[in-house]
Amino acid sequence: MATDLSNWSNFISNKDIETYAKKQKKNNVSKTLSAQDVWTAALEAKKTEPLDIEWVAEKLFGLNVVKRDLGEASGFLNVLDDQWCIFVNKFENERRQRFTIAHELGHFVLHKDKSITSKDIIFFRDENTNIEEQEANNFASELLMPERKIREYIKEGYNTISLLADKFCLSTPAVRYRLYKLGLISEY
Ligand SMILES: [Zn+2]
Repeated sequence: MATDLSNWSNFISNKDIETYAKKQKKNNVSKTLSAQDVWTAALEAKKTEPLDIEWVAEKLFGLNVVKRDLGEASGFLNVLDDQWCIFVNKFENERRQRFTIAHELGHFVLHKDKSITSKDIIFFRDENTNIEEQEANNFASELLMPERKIREYIKEGYNTISLLADKFCLSTPAVRYRLYKLGLISEY
């Protein structure tokens, strides 16, 4: 299927994010949204405990989240009938699906000008993956698990990987990877 990457901006017009982007522009902040920008917009809409990632993808960015049997793949991003879609493997558990959606959203936010239709099998390793995959993983990690929120939860007593995974509704490898990247644990 031909992929039209020219009209992505149609899907984020008239959405909350536009107002937010304008606010950011006024404050002289760069046009590319960071994970923290997206978190802040979700926080304003009270969608953050744990982050409602489907709401973020669909309502904030105008994407469709489509759950299908994707075989070996966890997910991918593509345009279907002029509509940007995140495809998610419906046979993976909810926690993995949440990370996949955030990862694909990362590709949309960061790499929308490039052709990125390859299917994703998401690993939490740095060495096996290219720069765009690392960027998408980092975007997803920062969006789903903001550092401030992690420190807050740890202070409240959610001080194991498994307790944090429950709080964020994510897999333990995803949490372990984030803690390692933040330097909160020394080994991955
Ligand atoms: Zn990817």
